[in-house]
Amino acid sequence: MSEEIRCIGCGAALQSQDKQLPGYLPASALAKVENGERDEVYCQRCFRLRHYNEIMPVSLDNDDFLALLNTMAEKKALIVNVVDLFDFSNSLISSLKRFVGTNDFILVGNKLDLFPKNSKESKIKDWMRQEANRMGLYPKDIFLISAAKKKNLDTLIDYLNKHSQDQDVYFVGTTNVGKSTLINAIIDEMGDVQDLITTSRFPGTTLDQIEIPLDNGHFLVDTPGILTDKQLASRLDPKDLDLASPKKPLKPATYQLLPGNTIFLAGLGRIDYLKGPSTSFTIYAARGMYIHRTKTEKADEFYQKHVGELLSPPGPNSDLPPLKGQEYSIKYRSDVLFAGVGFITVPEGCVIKAYTPGGIGLGTRRALI
Ligand code: GDP
Repeated sequence: MSEEIRCIGCGAALQSQDKQLPGYLPASALAKVENGERDEVYCQRCFRLRHYNEIMPVSLDNDDFLALLNTMAEKKALIVNVVDLFDFSNSLISSLKRFVGTNDFILVGNKLDLFPKNSKESKIKDWMRQEANRMGLYPKDIFLISAAKKKNLDTLIDYLNKHSQDQDVYFVGTTNVGKSTLINAIIDEMGDVQDLITTSRFPGTTLDQIEIPLDNGHFLVDTPGILTDKQLASRLDPKDLDLASPKKPLKPATYQLLPGNTIFLAGLGRIDYLKGPSTSFTIYAARGMYIHRTKTEKADEFYQKHVGELLSPPGPNSDLPPLKGQEYSIKYRSDVLFAGVGFITVPEGCVIKAYTPGGIGLGTRRALI
């Protein structure tokens, strides 16, 4: 029966099972609608947006997201893919390429505040463009921002103002990239936005998207975050995620290494130095992350013995997959990426093997610093 009752703000079917999913309403409130005490109701997300001007994250699985992309493809729109600069390849939405069509498409790289202070923004953008192109995505522009610190927001807002004169702006992103934080920051900058949701605009639609009206008659549309199991964020429990996620700009820690040495990034990453001269590797990770150096020949045993304890996060009850490695022959000075956790800068001419749980989020790029 509850499937028939929809939020009058976003049109999502109301449910009280999962706070993370569209249409959530506490059971007691849903019961009032079901037994006829109230006839119209907002889901918790629309309620918070309406009363506190605050967007709460919700998520969709891939199939529902594809349906949503189809609706975007039919309209003239500016599509904004918000990505996490610390988990970039996993937060780019490759399926967008089929739907962007003739629409404009931009990338917004979030969490810039975490990059080491001396990072060059032009180098970060070059890397993002190359990776996007490799996935068949051709962004018209790239912005680097920090939604949390409101860094570079003005430039983005100016761009959105200009481009929303004749079209709506759709924000899309995988979960945890900071899309809600960004939209809240934009709402904040827009000043006094009252009654963001006033009527039922989506009778009968199951797509939970929220439209924020602009002065020019167009809308900023927030779409639900897409869940992907390629993100460490969706595999770690919240406490471990909090421990692993950097909060402040990454500071380098340099280690002098010889082939036969291994370094662990707590229990979430490992790098073996296989071939090359005595040299230094520079680690950029969350400040509290436990770094352990050992001999490669002892590393497997060490990990088995200490993961979940000394090598933590993950915690003792984690169900992360075992570490899986990939070998890289480093042709030029490169950052070896451990998505969501950090990166290690390795000089040219080294052969290394990098590992993450299940091989999630491994990659390299030309060194940024
Ligand atoms: P959403 O799932 O994309 O809507 O993401 P949220 O807005 O809920 O943010 C996900 C996580 O990223 C939260 O822990 C935020 O505090 C964090 N976050 C968001 N924006 C930033 C940022 O600019 N810098 C940093 N360091 N963290 C951010």
